[in-house]
Order: sequence, then C-alpha cells, then structure tokens
Amino acid sequence: MSLLELENVTLKFGGLTAVDRLSFSVEEGEVFAIVGPNGAGKSTVFNLISRFYDPFEGTIRFDGQDLLAVKPSGVAAYGVARTFQNIELFEHATVLQNLLVGRHRHHKSNVISELFFTPSVKRQELENREKVEEVIDFLDLQAYRDKMIAGLPYGVRKVVEVARALATDPKLLLLDEPASGLSVEETTDMRWWIDDIRRQMGITVLMVEHDMGLVSGVSDRVLAMADGAKLALGTPAEVQSHPAVIEAYLGK
Ligand code: ADP
Ligand code: MG
Repeated sequence: MSLLELENVTLKFGGLTAVDRLSFSVEEGEVFAIVGPNGAGKSTVFNLISRFYDPFEGTIRFDGQDLLAVKPSGVAAYGVARTFQNIELFEHATVLQNLLVGRHRHHKSNVISELFFTPSVKRQELENREKVEEVIDFLDLQAYRDKMIAGLPYGVRKVVEVARALATDPKLLLLDEPASGLSVEETTDMRWWIDDIRRQMGITVLMVEHDMGLVSGVSDRVLAMADGAKLALGTPAEVQSHPAVIEAYLGK
C-alpha cells in the first residue's frame, strides 16, 4: 500500500483545468518530486492534498484512509505537514514560538482544561517543548532559537519553515519549492536536510522544486506535469531525458 495515492484527480478554476485527471502514488520512505513549468498545477496539487480545495472528481488516499473524508482542519493531525512557496511564518515571533504555535494547532487543546492547567495539559506542554527542541537541534537552528523571524536571513527562514512543519511530527512532509531564492550553498544544505529528514527521521517527502540539481540529487522518483496533467513519471534521469518533458520546457 502506498502512503499517498491520487487517482484521476481533477480541479477546475472557472474554465481553467488546473489539475487534469492526475494519478500518482508516493511510497513510504521515498523522496518524490513534482516538476513542471509555471502554472502546471504543482502548488494546486499540494493544496488538494492539504485539503484547501475539494477536487471536482477523483480520490485521494493517505495512509490507507480516504483523505477527502477528513475535515480540512484535521489533515495535520493525520500526519500531513507542508511548507508554502511564499514563506508563511509569524514575523514578530521567535523561531521557538513559531514552532510551538505549529504544535498547538496540531493538538487541538481544550480551553477549559487549559484554563485549569490540568496534568494532561502540562504533559502536552512538555511534549510540545521536547519535540520543538528536538527539531531545532536536528536542523541546527540553536543559534536562532530565540531570535525574531523578521530579523533572520531569508535562507534561515526557509529552514525554519521546514522546522515548523517537522514539529507537527508528520508522516508526509510537503515542501513547496524549498530551494527557491536560496544561494548555491544554501541549496546544497537544503539537499542534505531533506536527505536527513528522510533517512534519520524516516519521514516521506513530497516536494515541488525547479532546481533540477536538487531534484536529481535527492529524489527517488519524479513526476513531470504540464497543464495540470502527467507528462512523465520515473527516476530523475528518466524524466529529464523524456521527449515530452524536454518539449514542455523548450516550448515555454
Ligand atoms: P504551479 O505551482 O505549477 O506554478 P499552480 O498550481 O499555482 O501552478 O497553478 C495552476 C493553474 O491554476 C495556473 O494557471 C494558476 O493561474 C491557476 N490557479 C491556481 N490557483 C488558483 C485560484 N485560487 N484561482 C484561480 N486560478 C488559480
Ligand atoms: Mg507553485
């Protein structure tokens, strides 16, 4: 059984078919990349998996369950976490606070029990702290732990976005253009972070990425999309040499 399975998924915005009868599966433990020209529908696929949109048709299964039956607000608790193409962090909060907020959203707490600070709330707070500190150590963010997001270099913010997603303890991590705006050195670092996340944390990674160096370096399989549909699916080498993929890139 695959961890994630999309079958015949279609989404339209008015007259525009953003995702067109798309099917693919992601296996547990792999790094799977989606590539394609701007407007191909890559971010929309992420928005479907994170339940921002309901597909017009098709099914999405995650971890053996019908993901479309899960409330949009419940997806994180199911084990799906994501980063955004444009960083979405609280600018005037610290790295630590941003990560803790991510954990709070994950465990819906009960207002009454929080008011009275019951033992179970205390236990949850401790667990949140431990998880967040673990992720900060894992991604080498100790130096930035108590710094405000607003003052951090862009490259560090990109890593903090990944950290916030990881702090929710996901089974599947969705990364939307993790290397966009990064320098060559920072892109190499991101590549090793993704590799460590998969190998050491055992988390499955689905990413959208333009940097083919990063895609080839870290992905097991690649899906190339154009106009909402599948062009090719295979190893990075297979996809890069596929005639339809070459044509889609040259034609744009
Ligand atoms: P990609 O991430 O591959 O660049 P997107 O998934 O963002 O592409 O967009 C796919 C297509 O759907 C584009 O033509 C885009 O303009 C359109 N689109 C995306 N989101 C919306 C929306 N909320 N409303 C209308 N059109 C949208
Ligand atoms: Mg996009």
